[in-house]
Amino acid sequence: MQVVRTPDSARSIARTLGRPLGFVPTMGALHAGHLALLKRARAENAAVAASLFVNPLQFGPAEDFPSYPRDFERDRALFAENGVDLLYAPAVDDVYPAGFSTRVDVGELGTRYEGAARWGHFVGVATVVLKLLHTVEPTTLYLGQKDVQQTAVLARMVRDLDLVVNVTVCPTVREADGLALSSRNVYLSPAQRSAAPSLRRALVTVSEALLSGNMTIAGAIEAGRAVVEPPLQIEYLEIVDPVTFSPLSLPARPALIVGVVRAGTTRLIDNITVPALDGSDPILTPERVVRQAASR
Ligand code: AMP
Repeated sequence: MQVVRTPDSARSIARTLGRPLGFVPTMGALHAGHLALLKRARAENAAVAASLFVNPLQFGPAEDFPSYPRDFERDRALFAENGVDLLYAPAVDDVYPAGFSTRVDVGELGTRYEGAARWGHFVGVATVVLKLLHTVEPTTLYLGQKDVQQTAVLARMVRDLDLVVNVTVCPTVREADGLALSSRNVYLSPAQRSAAPSLRRALVTVSEALLSGNMTIAGAIEAGRAVVEPPLQIEYLEIVDPVTFSPLSLPARPALIVGVVRAGTTRLIDNITVPALDGSDPILTPERVVRQAASR
């Protein structure tokens, strides 16, 4: 695995790698969710690039940018063990040199839910991912369903800006009790950790209420809210259109159920989909037929 720090070196080495080239952007603090993306990228491509960059532009001023978990040596070893050919790990100044001022704004989609709770978050995400894509020039970008609005924002950016890259969304990896893996789960106290799986149970409750066919949207959401355990506090629990993220006013399929709860200062985010009537999932990308990796 080659490790590079600057955009120019990342681009020149990425150009020497085999094609198709899979790309997995991360902020490090790797867990099994990240590793699942690397595994899928490895299986579907001749070569894999990953990035490790805690992006200051997507954190609000009062958020956890300074304290976000960082352990470069541990992450570097995990990237190498999981088949990454190129690790791009720039410093903040490499990505945002003095005078940097351009931003990517996807519009209304980026202002709902996570965009409303974390003002400027998706502008920061879209801006850095555009830069990363321009540097690495991958065939396919691999993203996790856990951050589902991020996948929608980035898919919109790819479409609106005519970027030549596929977007593949992979399933959320969970603990045995249903809690979605997150680098921020380490912040949870024992009491918060034991209540945390109730977010997933609430999403499932909403989905089952919707699928029962005899509940209103408000009734389904109410049933879900009742499942969330203290000390968790619900920030939002909604049923939305999987493309626009506008709230549904009438039961429909496919649908997306999104939720965030607060555990002290930590926000836990999760979602599940309600498939279309033909069984297709509105978010996940079906696995591609695995081709033999041509080179590493
Ligand atoms: P992050 O390092 O948090 O920016 O995440 C990097 C990528 O990993 C994003 O595409 C996330 O959606 C994805 N990811 C994070 N947690 C999970 C998870 N539990 N399951 C699947 N993908 C995840």
